[in-house]
Amino acid sequence: MAIENLIIIGSGPAGYTAGIYAARANLSPLCIEGYQSGGLLMLTSDVENFPGFPQGMMGPELMANFRKQAERFGTRFISKNVTHIDFSSFPLKVYIENEEFQTKAVVIATGAATKWLGLESESRLLGKGVSSCATCDGAFFKGAKLIIVGGGDSAMEEATFLTRFASHVTVIHRKDTLRASKIMQERAFKNPKISFIWDSEVVEVLGQDAVTGARVKNLKTGALSEVPCEGFFVAIGHEPNTSFLKGHIDLDPKGYVILPKRPTTVTSRTGVFAAGDVQDTIYRQAITAAASGCQAAIDVEKHLETLH
Ligand code: NDP
Repeated sequence: MAIENLIIIGSGPAGYTAGIYAARANLSPLCIEGYQSGGLLMLTSDVENFPGFPQGMMGPELMANFRKQAERFGTRFISKNVTHIDFSSFPLKVYIENEEFQTKAVVIATGAATKWLGLESESRLLGKGVSSCATCDGAFFKGAKLIIVGGGDSAMEEATFLTRFASHVTVIHRKDTLRASKIMQERAFKNPKISFIWDSEVVEVLGQDAVTGARVKNLKTGALSEVPCEGFFVAIGHEPNTSFLKGHIDLDPKGYVILPKRPTTVTSRTGVFAAGDVQDTIYRQAITAAASGCQAAIDVEKHLETLH
């Protein structure tokens, strides 16, 4: 079996940038990009803060360009999910079901996935009015009343985006101040179609076969109320996609990959590097993910030189 120089697990800005740099270094990397390639930007509309695109860029288009650039220099792609790994000996092993791949180095760039509230009614009504992707599903709710849960940039961005379709958007947040950046807050506060319910959590999404509203609890008074809506969006952040790594490399209590030798992308296991949201608890931007993908590819190059 051929031993790869580098397997990149995951795509998105980090994985694709690692592919661009590693391919241009003649490493002929193999990127196992997942069934849903491109990462979280595939679920975004306008990306306004990626340098070099003053007019903004649609997330999926930006990711398609990243991928093309990686492919142009010789990155190979498999659009499947890695199911498990074995980093206990050299060469490192990566599996897609029963199919084994051997490699001298790995870059983990599996990113993070949407967090849910964890309510039974939320999962029951998923796709029947419950969604975590305003970009994907917003257009289904023309003229509708919508709820969005969360107080971060994602919630504000999605609330603002949803007003293109909705008659009204109610933001429900568990605190009385937002975590979102000032510019996103101001945009939402100024929008006449957006209102806020503070200090409150959703205890149940209402409806049998379609969403009809939400039961909301005020966390200061304990009072329960019902807010009618036809669409219910959740935007409360993300969790790192690292379940397949548990016990194989060091993860922090929230599941993020620990990089013990920052600013390098080295993990606790020799030959394994991590880039992007999977190791980033602070910045989580497309540009910082891309930058760390570049760092990881350069770290891999240096590591491979030590193997000769
Ligand atoms: P954040 O972690 O920043 O915010 C999550 C929000 O959801 C917080 O307000 C949090 O409340 C709330 N929350 C978390 N868990 C629960 C729960 N179980 N029930 C109710 N509410 C909950 O995530 P985002 O996805 O908003 O943003 C992630 C990163 O991406 C940030 O760095 C952000 O700046 C960036 N981003 C940038 C954008 C842009 O610049 N265009 C667009 C979108 C995201 P609390 O505040 O109480 O903790």
